[in-house]
Amino acid sequence: MTLAERDLKVIWHPYTQMQTAQPPVSIVRGEGALLFDEDGKSYIDAVSSWWTNIHGHAHPHIAQKVAEQLKELEHVIFAGFTHKPAVELAERLLAILPSNQAKAFYSDNGSTAVEVAIKMCLQYWHNQGQPRTKILAFKNAYHGDTFGAMAVSGRSAFTAAFDSLLFEVEFIDLPTEENIQNLKSQISNLKSQLACFIFEPLVQGSAGMIMYEAEYLEQLMAHCRAEGVLMIDDEVFTGFGRTGRRFACNHVQTEPDIMCFSKGLTGGTMAFGLTTCTQKIYDAFLSNDKMKTLFHGHSYTANPVACAASLASMNLFLDEQTEINIARIVQAHSTFAQRVAAHPKVKTVRQTGTIVALEWETGENTSYFSNLRDKLYHHFLNRGIVLRPLGNVIYILPPYCITDDQLAYIYAEIEKALGEI
Ligand SMILES: *Cc1c(COP(=O)(O)O)cnc(C)c1O
Repeated sequence: MTLAERDLKVIWHPYTQMQTAQPPVSIVRGEGALLFDEDGKSYIDAVSSWWTNIHGHAHPHIAQKVAEQLKELEHVIFAGFTHKPAVELAERLLAILPSNQAKAFYSDNGSTAVEVAIKMCLQYWHNQGQPRTKILAFKNAYHGDTFGAMAVSGRSAFTAAFDSLLFEVEFIDLPTEENIQNLKSQISNLKSQLACFIFEPLVQGSAGMIMYEAEYLEQLMAHCRAEGVLMIDDEVFTGFGRTGRRFACNHVQTEPDIMCFSKGLTGGTMAFGLTTCTQKIYDAFLSNDKMKTLFHGHSYTANPVACAASLASMNLFLDEQTEINIARIVQAHSTFAQRVAAHPKVKTVRQTGTIVALEWETGENTSYFSNLRDKLYHHFLNRGIVLRPLGNVIYILPPYCITDDQLAYIYAEIEKALGEI
């Protein structure tokens, strides 16, 4: 039996209709931007393995630091105990975040980082005896798959089976020049009920790489600050260089109250989540009254190995070479985008930093369930490229170490496919 056959006997895959899915590709090894299957065939990982991998696969520096940590301490309870990797990671990360970020709360993944952020906001108001329970979010948002994270995400096919159980959220449009005044008055009208505003900065990834401008995000954030509405900046996807700057919030002036991190945090090595907040939020939980405690934690909170992977990834992230690589990808994407923009099969092409997305003209509305999706997916897989279209939207967001030749090959194959499919 092949590994794929054994897999199908025992495994249920994420986001996969198992009845119609093709057998999975068995990956045995990764190196740089490449993945290798059982037969030695290579694939360029153009989607950074679900947007997580920023420095390439099986990076020797991360591998070494993780191995060293495993021999020192693999895990310890984080209530009443601490360890150096957790302290050092919080110190080093807070040092490069907006200056108002003061405290770090560890968890396990992006969804839990969001859950913690939501709980911090709700309990911030609860602890002060002025409960506020309404949350503001963008239409089509995606903040994760646990119930709280789902509730603040747009209602969609992903949430349909659970919609009646999700708490109510006020959804607003993405800000544009035309609607910004209107959005501001909506916020002003709701402000006394709003526990917080949660948003994906600049790019709504799962919605289909929908992008909006920093200028209008800044206006919304400044308005929230003026109206006393707490802001959760969900940087799970955009953090660690994706948008061309270290964090997407570096494109705006107003500092968020809370930030969420996961995907790129460990360099794509392992599951990990982190929520940071201001001193003011933290202080609202300080009390002799035990009921004001943030009662939240996971068995693996602040796992030392995940902290070590994150510290190693941070070393690489802050290295000058990474900055050069990011600038190189931004430039290459931009040249590619200009080249294909006028193609009749290209409905739109858009870019934010190291993310470029191309909407394929299908003659129908853009949809996650577009029939084109599977066709495109297998077309590129056969040509040794992992692209994972969101419906008829294909996007490239590679590890920063991807070579110019690998990028050029992806662009060329997409241009060829535009002519053929
Ligand atoms: C992926 C994602 C999440 C959820 O992270 P998981 O680790 O998959 O739970 C939350 N927010 C955003 C913006 C994401 O892209």
